[in-house]
Amino acid sequence: MSEDCLFCRIVSGDVPADVIARNDHAVGFRDISPVAPTHVLVIPRSHHANLGEVAAAEPDTLVGMVQLARQIAEADGVAGEGYRLVANTGAAAHQTVFHAHLHVLGGRSMGWPPG
Ligand code: AMP
Ligand code: ZN
Repeated sequence: MSEDCLFCRIVSGDVPADVIARNDHAVGFRDISPVAPTHVLVIPRSHHANLGEVAAAEPDTLVGMVQLARQIAEADGVAGEGYRLVANTGAAAHQTVFHAHLHVLGGRSMGWPPG
């Protein structure tokens, strides 16, 4: 837990968020600035700068994050048509919050390659 970290403060409840799912490892809440009909962030309860750091330090947590993302996609009704998991890693990849997170995006068709 870092007092300076926005997503740690969402995990602890200090900062409100539209939390829709939780498990032992992760918390899922709707993105404040959605870019798709389903846009949920899945974050580990523990602080790591990015998804690779989660994998290195706590592989079980990474599994828990993906399980929660799948559960959210199913609950939002986008699992059948398809959804995208995005983990921007580093500033050049448009990471802006340096607490690991998966974007769960769905509910519209998407292009490739991403911009
Ligand atoms: P990234 O650019 O991959 O680091 O994604 C960070 C995401 O966090 C962006 O999509 C923001 O819209 C989202 N975000 C920032 N602050 C909040 C907040 N307080 N509640 C929900 N989502 C947030
Ligand atoms: Zn944090």
